[in-house]
Amino acid sequence: MYKRICLIFLSALFFGNVIYARIVNQDEAYYLRLINQNNPLPDNYEPENMINIALYVRSTRSEIWMEERAGRSFIEMVNSMVLDGVEDMAAVSGFRDFSHQTTLFNRQVARHSYLSSEEAFRRAAMVVAPPGASEHQSGLAIDVSSSQVSFALSQRFENTDAFTWLLENAHKYGFIIRYPRDKTYITGIVYEPWHLRYVGVFHAERMVELGLVLEEYWETLEISSTLAITTTIESENRAEEENRDGLAERIRRFLSRF
Ligand SMILES: [Zn+2]
Repeated sequence: MYKRICLIFLSALFFGNVIYARIVNQDEAYYLRLINQNNPLPDNYEPENMINIALYVRSTRSEIWMEERAGRSFIEMVNSMVLDGVEDMAAVSGFRDFSHQTTLFNRQVARHSYLSSEEAFRRAAMVVAPPGASEHQSGLAIDVSSSQVSFALSQRFENTDAFTWLLENAHKYGFIIRYPRDKTYITGIVYEPWHLRYVGVFHAERMVELGLVLEEYWETLEISSTLAITTTIESENRAEEENRDGLAERIRRFLSRF
């Protein structure tokens, strides 16, 4: 534990300035956005530009949409994987809008109808993100599987060649395995080896290097509260300036402790 804390602190010292320089770039911040039950997306949020990745890579359906940059990185990653001889991975689910997520979540809650509504909500939320709290609504997440597990979204996916390849290489293309087995107490989500999240190469590599999930990464930088990412163009410039000032102050305070 002590070692790990030291590692985080040292990394913050060494990478602090670099990460700060990169993170205030609105572009990078967008891809790093933390989305969970405590940090939901607006109800009607939809990424502006999306591409249908099913046209380019093996998929279980004819339309699977992703935010454009995330989607292009995914296609590039799958092409490299195929060149390495792993050809049986398929995209299963990408962008899901708020109402689709509502349907999925309500179905999961109904499975626990014998419990109090609070408990049913809690249990369901560990398996299916409540509407607004799903990374799929951002267009930055993609579920994948392999013929070795009949394209199921199953924890058995971790035993496939595709997963082994992803563990070694996904971060090089900006993707993280978002809900690892040993961090369920932090993410609040069951182990999902099939769920990949795009955060950009810079941050994905650091997260893998430090062994941090997105919640921990944000916490380490102490920036989640200062970096409110706006999705509306009108408020973007003003908000960016405010964020930049607040963020700089936060990071200065954080680094001055050591
Ligand atoms: Zn998923």
